[in-house]
Amino acid sequence: TMACLTAMDAGDALGAYVHKTPEIALDQARAADARLAQGDAPAMCGIPLGIKDLFCTKGVPSQAASNILRGFRPEYESTVTTRLFEAGAVMLGKLNMDEFAMGSSNETSCYGPAVNPWRIDDRELTPGGSSGGSAAAVAGDLCLAATGTDTGGSIRQPAAFTGIVGIKPTYGRVSRWGIVAFASSLDQAGPMTKSVRDAAIMLGAMAGHDPKDSTSADIPVPDFEAALTGDIRGKKIGIPREYRIDGMPAEIDALWHRGAEMLRDAGAEIVDISLPHTKYALPAYYVIAPAEASSNLARYDGVRYGHRAKLSHGDGVTEMYEKTRAEGFGHEVQRRVMIGTYVLSAGFYDAYYNRARKVRALIKRDFEQAFAAGVDAILTPATPSAAFGLGEMSQADPIQMYLNDVFTVTVNLAGLPGISVPVGLDGQGLPLGLQLIGRPWEEGDLLNHAYVLE
Ligand code: GLN
Repeated sequence: TMACLTAMDAGDALGAYVHKTPEIALDQARAADARLAQGDAPAMCGIPLGIKDLFCTKGVPSQAASNILRGFRPEYESTVTTRLFEAGAVMLGKLNMDEFAMGSSNETSCYGPAVNPWRIDDRELTPGGSSGGSAAAVAGDLCLAATGTDTGGSIRQPAAFTGIVGIKPTYGRVSRWGIVAFASSLDQAGPMTKSVRDAAIMLGAMAGHDPKDSTSADIPVPDFEAALTGDIRGKKIGIPREYRIDGMPAEIDALWHRGAEMLRDAGAEIVDISLPHTKYALPAYYVIAPAEASSNLARYDGVRYGHRAKLSHGDGVTEMYEKTRAEGFGHEVQRRVMIGTYVLSAGFYDAYYNRARKVRALIKRDFEQAFAAGVDAILTPATPSAAFGLGEMSQADPIQMYLNDVFTVTVNLAGLPGISVPVGLDGQGLPLGLQLIGRPWEEGDLLNHAYVLE
């Protein structure tokens, strides 16, 4: 903990932490020492973590990197952080992210972007998003591991951009209670770590049924670490042909081949599969996620949380809502709320939202058919490129940014577990990741496949 606190201060240039909690860290570290002295060594005992700003932490600023939550200090602790603390973990501080987890580069944060510890000369690169602060902190050794959340790729893409491991569990595996909601039917929290083993241990501490989240599943949490045998003999790995997209860099393709080879060398069988509705995933996601976001973000009205705009004489409640939301939400969040409201509006509901829901069902069925045909895991690239430069993606063309999520959103739409593992470097020396997608509730098996790739 002391080493991390020092590193955290020395690493300010990465912009990873938006709020540091050294007093809490030292208290928790002392408590962990006391438990160890009594022979009690829970899974996360004394492990210093960074916590994404999307998690509500009691008495500690929790702003989802948004101005609208300025001054908000929750009265309660999220289930995930409660569980991690009960397992002995130490909180170093809150981590930067895209505002309300909307973005793929950490550039929509009200604090400004986090910076990737990997760089080429003086060029500053994005750590990815939305869990960019989490990825930068883990890769930059400013904590041992971090929490992330993933609605369309926000754990896996930043993990790939920074050369770390990130797993999005099966929908319902981890409680969403106390995590600021973005798109409730897609959101899942998961660990971002330096190794597959760390991910297995930390996921075990985070997961489990929670009566406070009605979508959390009452399914026992197995010992994920025990699943890491490295034995994948006889397993069937599917390579989905639809993920071979136009314009994919040769390096990504080569990495994908290399990953398949590593799994084959370990005794798995590699098979070609088809997930025919893949090309509709991105458009369906960018209807469903904003629709749910527009509903979830309705609660930021200037009354219940955080910021309220200064009002002029004669302003009524409508002006208060409008001024507060115009000041408090950044451009990307406003865009999502507008898109979401539009696709849910009476005249367009069937044409957009209902269509997207049907497409979602087809995407889910594609995966079910692949698993029913005996596939144990699916291997794809995690991202269509390595980390790009900060400020290089045009803010004027949001679609360009959305294309980053082409390989990851299918997994959220289908509710499946997905993991990003660092597998190699590109020609410039930047990390690249591969994604493995598993059967529902089979995170142990998925982690074991990732263990072979690591
Ligand atoms: N980049 C995607 C988006 O902007 C995914 C974000 C996420 O997973 N939270 O919606």
